[in-house]
Amino acid sequence: MPVVAIDGPAGTGKSSVARLLADRVRAQYLDTGAMYRAATLAVLRAGVAPDSDEVARVVAASDIRLSTDSDGATLVMLDGEDVSEEIRTEAVTGSVSAVSANAEVRVRLVDLQRTHANQTLLVVEGRDIGTVVFPAAALKIYLTATPQARAERRHRQNIAAGRESILDEVLDSVNRRDHLDSTREASPLRPADDAVHVDTSDMTLDQVLDTLTELVETRIGGQR
Ligand code: C5P
Repeated sequence: MPVVAIDGPAGTGKSSVARLLADRVRAQYLDTGAMYRAATLAVLRAGVAPDSDEVARVVAASDIRLSTDSDGATLVMLDGEDVSEEIRTEAVTGSVSAVSANAEVRVRLVDLQRTHANQTLLVVEGRDIGTVVFPAAALKIYLTATPQARAERRHRQNIAAGRESILDEVLDSVNRRDHLDSTREASPLRPADDAVHVDTSDMTLDQVLDTLTELVETRIGGQR
């Protein structure tokens, strides 16, 4: 069961690339950020502060399930309700780093992530996939891009999805989330020692996709 681990900060094009890559190399796709977002929604709905110890209890009592619809998009269910759209709101985005810094929440969600590893080939994206979740992954990719390029990407995604968006605010939010994600004690965002680094700042989505497809074919091709 080879795993392709794709890690990196927000706005590197990670989600789009991971999903398209999975489609191209006929792999299953797992968006672990969607799990942390669903957990955060549960915390917000419970009226619990995202940085309190109580979040672990709320998340433990929540039923979070991920699946893929016929178009390859991630379907996220929280306690039986489809929350795929709601987990992308600013309210969730603004609190997700605090919730995902909780070590107990991480243990629970990492367990859940590993249950997906029974496919022929799995493309998993997140922050700690190559370092913690699947340290033996056959291929580890670390996507980077300048903060400006990442904020612009997120801004365009927001507009395309009909969400309100102000570039400066997106840049602040991207920087704040990166800082929290990379300085937390539990599984901080960092590249695995054996990760292939790809800077996407000046690359189109197609170029990134071609680069990653070639890496999968050369590193994993024969194992499938
Ligand atoms: O990838 P996405 O932006 O949806 O991730 C949302 C948040 O979930 C990240 O900012 C991070 O705080 C958390 N996350 C994490 N570990 C992962 C995936 C996401 O801590 N493997």
